[in-house]
Amino acid sequence: MTISRAASCGVGALAAIISVAAASFTPATAADQVNIYSYREPGLIAPLLKAFEEKTGIKPNVVFARDGLIERAAAEGANSPMDVLLTVDIARLMEAETRGISQPVNSEAVNANIPANYRDPEGHWVGFSQRARIVYASKERVKQDSITYEELADPKWKGKICTRSGQSSYNIALLASIIAHSGVEKAEAWARGLKENLARKPAGGDRDQVKAVYSGECDLAIGNTYYMAAMQTNTQKPEQQEWANSVRILFPNADDRGTHVNITGAVLGKYAPNKEAGIKLIEFLTSEEGQKIYAEIVNEYPLKKGVPISDRVASWGPLKADPLPLEEIAKHSAEASAIIDRVGFDSGGGN
Ligand code: FE
Repeated sequence: MTISRAASCGVGALAAIISVAAASFTPATAADQVNIYSYREPGLIAPLLKAFEEKTGIKPNVVFARDGLIERAAAEGANSPMDVLLTVDIARLMEAETRGISQPVNSEAVNANIPANYRDPEGHWVGFSQRARIVYASKERVKQDSITYEELADPKWKGKICTRSGQSSYNIALLASIIAHSGVEKAEAWARGLKENLARKPAGGDRDQVKAVYSGECDLAIGNTYYMAAMQTNTQKPEQQEWANSVRILFPNADDRGTHVNITGAVLGKYAPNKEAGIKLIEFLTSEEGQKIYAEIVNEYPLKKGVPISDRVASWGPLKADPLPLEEIAKHSAEASAIIDRVGFDSGGGN
């Protein structure tokens, strides 16, 4: 397995991306290779790709970047070496289709494995796993054991909440779900209220927010479920186990509409030079074996019926997922992004 990290900014970095890609994709049409563009962190997908390579003998070549992969595939057009785009977030999956970089996955195996509401009717994108956007609450300083997203805008939390950038796809999807439920006006008021409650300027990833709870900078952090597991099991950075140990998971809106969830998934590249290998990869990721890895090692919620969640995920308590159709979330993401700008969300927190 080859994994290249592509930075997303700077001319030098761009040159590096291109040379890395050229180096790893030279035999791009060999039958035993599959070229993957991945927005997912290499560490999270490595166990899945390793199992796939062992099972099929197909070697995954991965280019990882946080941003710009859809744009890159669009710019490459018919010359794109991309067979499969691995990503998170329904808006990104649908954007891949809109930008014309996908083709339908026609696979009975995939259709049998993944419920219809988690894949595009024409097969342009396929979901693999689900995650919830939850609240990490300080065990020491937060006594309540339920919460709602709406409550995060209540002045009682002034200066006590940490989150990553409002423009991150995770927070955009959450805000888009609030637009879908309550309308633009209320969603904007909510974003403004949440900004007023920030303990510090939004920065870093979800784990950094939990670290800030641990260090006493905030009492509540907004984050995705699997990061709890990633911290709890991080033997290379054992300090993260302490961060995780300082918080409890609260599933927002468990008593009403349910907790906001989003999916991970993939698209098959429109010009995939190794189309069959790409389909095999997507089939593998939806199979019993692939879905068990999502459950047990990535600690996400598998989408294939009958594959159980891990004991670790079960230990956090039941997830009642907001049943809002994923397309509704994607539909409101541009508006959500505009709201984040309008309220100056990312300059909140006072420092
Ligand atoms: Fe993530």
